[in-house]
Amino acid sequence: MIPHLKDNRLFRQAALVAGNWVAPGPDAIDVRNPATGEIIGRVPKLGATEARAAIEAAQAAQAGWAARTAAERSQILRRWFDLMVANKEDLGRILTAEQGKPLKEAIGEIVYGASFIEWFSEEARRVYGDVIPGHQRDKRIIVLKQPIGVVAAITPWNFPNAMITRKAGPALAAGCAMVLKPASQTPFSAIALAVLGEMAGLPEGLFSVLTGSAQAIGAEMTGNALVRKLTFTGSTEIGAELYRQSAPTIKKLGLELGGNAPFIVFNDADLDAAVEGALIAKFRNNGQTCVCANRIYVEDGVYEAFAGKLRAAVSNLKTGNGFDEGVDLGPLIDAAALAKVEEHVGDAVSKGAKLETGGARHKLGGTFYEPTVLTGVTEDMLVAREETFGPVAPLFRFGGEADVIRQANATEFGLASYFYARDIAKVFRVAEALEYGMVGVNTGLISTAEAPFGGVKLSGLGREGSRYGIEEFLETKYLCIGGV
Ligand code: ADP
Repeated sequence: MIPHLKDNRLFRQAALVAGNWVAPGPDAIDVRNPATGEIIGRVPKLGATEARAAIEAAQAAQAGWAARTAAERSQILRRWFDLMVANKEDLGRILTAEQGKPLKEAIGEIVYGASFIEWFSEEARRVYGDVIPGHQRDKRIIVLKQPIGVVAAITPWNFPNAMITRKAGPALAAGCAMVLKPASQTPFSAIALAVLGEMAGLPEGLFSVLTGSAQAIGAEMTGNALVRKLTFTGSTEIGAELYRQSAPTIKKLGLELGGNAPFIVFNDADLDAAVEGALIAKFRNNGQTCVCANRIYVEDGVYEAFAGKLRAAVSNLKTGNGFDEGVDLGPLIDAAALAKVEEHVGDAVSKGAKLETGGARHKLGGTFYEPTVLTGVTEDMLVAREETFGPVAPLFRFGGEADVIRQANATEFGLASYFYARDIAKVFRVAEALEYGMVGVNTGLISTAEAPFGGVKLSGLGREGSRYGIEEFLETKYLCIGGV
């Protein structure tokens, strides 16, 4: 149960398969509140059969949806957005209960998540083709943009709402249908979205939410030839597996995978702004985002000053149950996440890093971990290479631009990066030299519906959000008209 919901219809213990609500059977999945370990509800454990049914229903619904005018699709999406905003407190409560982030942050995610539905409800009407001068006197060349067809989506637990809307918004706006498998830790936020989607008037079968076996559902999604695009947010390891599985049916892939974001503070930075940016880039969602600052590089001249200010700010962060007042950081999602954070901190300290604050499990127990700042961190430590995905800020020292660019780019990942500097020439040089899909300059918060989100190298393929985002769900068709 989830306390204090205004509209209990939003918390539904069922999956939506091909237009039918399916209740949990005896092998249902328990969903737990990571702050307390309590079971908040159960969802069905579905597999390949249900995935196939959902894909076939999506295929059937898609043609009619694509045939509607863009304005009609836009209006339904706009209603979905309005319903999300009107129910943001309830959606936030469901999210906090299953994911753990503080309620204020959860409601923030709902507003952010809704912004993708709003943005793409608008973009639906701006899917323009092209007319190109012909190559012969009697020829005309016309370019049409058409929906790619049925889209399968697999989403993670760290943003149980926004990672869905960032995919569903452009897919449905473009005239595609979607079959979604949310993370098993956080299915209720996805289900609540489906409830609101029905209320908004999405046609039956157009949007299914399948809870259950990732492997079985994933195998059907990747193997089924009706699915023309797979969009996935999660680990690079699973992304690569899905890429392999999708090869025989030559699907278009959208992959938002892991990161290892550098956050660079140059000597000429505004230090207070850099500390504020680091707090957001590192500790938002308790460090569990793929754009979280993973490695903080501070130039020699400001190292001690920055470390002191960051330590003071981090010592003031309050960890606790996301439903409690004034809490900044919730629990980690599960025991494996806690073990990874402990491993990274233990490895760094054993190799000579110094704990400035934190560095241990939190006294609240469970999967709570103290927000941590480490100084004296070096390239041979685990935190330099792997994504920690927790509330740990490791401070590396650097001397000069070339040194830090080399270190920042010395990773197979390339999602987000950040730096703080004031010299305008340096700002351009560094921004261009960083091998990342996104660069935050003098800001720690870069995600927004208006901008293209995505990575290079092992961080993925494609972009989400912005006018580029809808392109990912469109095919380009060329008409050659002769005899004119
Ligand atoms: P995370 O570390 O964020 O949990 P994962 O890549 O393990 O990253 O999970 C992201 C999503 O991928 C989740 O919805 C999960 O259920 C799903 N998933 C995990 N393994 C597979 C698989 N073999 N096939 C399809 N989906 C999978």
